Amino acid sequence: MTVAKRISHFINGLPYEGGAGNRSADVFNPATGEAAAKVALAGAADVRKAVASAQQAFPGWAATPALRRARVLFKFKQLLDENADRLAEIITSEHGKVLSDARGDVMRGIEVVEFACGIPHLMKGEFSENVGTNIDCYSLRQPLGVCAGITPFNFPAMVGMWMFPVAIACGNTFVWKPSERDPSASLFIADLFQKAGLPPGVLNVVHGDKEAVDTLLTDPAVQAVSFVGSTPIAQYIYSTAAAHGKRVQALGGAKNHMVVMPDADMDQAVDALMGAAYGSAGERCMAISVAVAVGEAGDTLIKKLKPRVENLKIGPGTDPEVEMGPLITRAHLEKVLSYVDLGLKEGAQLVVDGRALKISRQGYEKGFYMGGCLFDRVTPAMRIYKEEIFGPVLAVVRANSFDEAVNLTNSHEFGNGTAIFTRDGDAARSFVNRITVGMVGVNVPIPVPVAFHTFGGWKQSAFGAHGMHGPEGIDFYTRLKTVTSRWPAGIKDGAEFTMPVMK
Ligand code: NAD
Repeated sequence: MTVAKRISHFINGLPYEGGAGNRSADVFNPATGEAAAKVALAGAADVRKAVASAQQAFPGWAATPALRRARVLFKFKQLLDENADRLAEIITSEHGKVLSDARGDVMRGIEVVEFACGIPHLMKGEFSENVGTNIDCYSLRQPLGVCAGITPFNFPAMVGMWMFPVAIACGNTFVWKPSERDPSASLFIADLFQKAGLPPGVLNVVHGDKEAVDTLLTDPAVQAVSFVGSTPIAQYIYSTAAAHGKRVQALGGAKNHMVVMPDADMDQAVDALMGAAYGSAGERCMAISVAVAVGEAGDTLIKKLKPRVENLKIGPGTDPEVEMGPLITRAHLEKVLSYVDLGLKEGAQLVVDGRALKISRQGYEKGFYMGGCLFDRVTPAMRIYKEEIFGPVLAVVRANSFDEAVNLTNSHEFGNGTAIFTRDGDAARSFVNRITVGMVGVNVPIPVPVAFHTFGGWKQSAFGAHGMHGPEGIDFYTRLKTVTSRWPAGIKDGAEFTMPVMK
């Protein structure tokens, strides 16, 4: 009998097995369906150990000049570049996405590290000379202390790297709680950061589930919590951490609409929909799961999409020919399949039915695969329209006009991403102005902002005032201190008892 690989925590620069009697969970290879490892699930004492290590490392790291912190980040970026292929393989082995997409997961994370390398510039404050006679006023951005990040399974590298490179560049220390379903990438990344010269305790990784998360949300030493995951958990994180006095940013789920106008380049729109709906098996918070076809665009879209969805190349993510890999777990696969059953019951037209797909390739028969599914004539009252499915299922909704398409998109409870495909500049401009969604694409299906802009949705897709990375990332991980200073020439005798005003 082979002993399953054991995935441990990483605390104070060292692997840490966790306290005796703690639980563990299976980690699967979704391509084969095999349990490939066991991950330790932290108990409260393990999490407190990680927080204590981060707390101890904080004064030294915060006092390290920003230039020197940036040099560690530059080295980290170099090591990530050198090890990007290995990191992508680790992601594919536990998540299932195709290798080229896993590489994208790593690259988008590296871009945030590149942004964070500019920290000496990004943390510069403001200075006003002589705001009163011999009085200067200036502002500083200072780190918060120990920050925590809780991340989802679907981007095991990128989402964590939206958070800790910025937090750490700003002088904070960090505890990362990645998804227990694909935990290995986080350890590989933390090891590279340490090899780049990061002092022990500045970045710690604890694996776990609700118990670990709840400890982070309530530990008084944790100053800020960043979360990305599903909406019900995001709401819970936001309210619980805020009630414990922490700064919180919590990004949730999505149901992203792509409006296709009748004047759009239909081949371009279909290419965009294929990648955006079925890439990464639809397990992306920026995936397009609803195509809103305006007027005659509907018939053309369905005609062109049907053969493309039927011919998707599905299999293990390690095969370079494959376009779509398996889903993350058997439970998630079953949930997605049950939504397809539900759509049929609700009266939607199932144009492509991928439920029965079987992979016959030896060794992959038990993987968590399904084929792409395409629904037409979906209506806003249906649950398959309202709820996030997070699988390779695209719903086409027909709209009679541009206004109807805009109102439909705006009426949805989620507001993460959206896109419009059109050749009409007026329609595109009006869409950008009126739409109540945080990230908008014009002839771009997945408008994920680059690292030096801020990522974040609206409505039920995000809770808290700050998005991830870009200017809001810096704001989130720092607090402002404003100093008013007067030097001897301006010092007056005696106390003043009235509210000070500049004279
Ligand atoms: P999830 O909400 O199940 O888990 C996210 C994290 O929360 C994990 O680390 C998990 O261990 C933890 N968690 C789960 N249940 C918990 C509980 N009851 N109490 C405390 N912590 C708990 O999400 P997931 O399935 O890993 O990821 C998919 C979801 O993430 C989708 O809804 C997707 O839209 C969303 N997502 C959003 C964005 C975004 O930027 N808005 C990005 C990626 C993923």
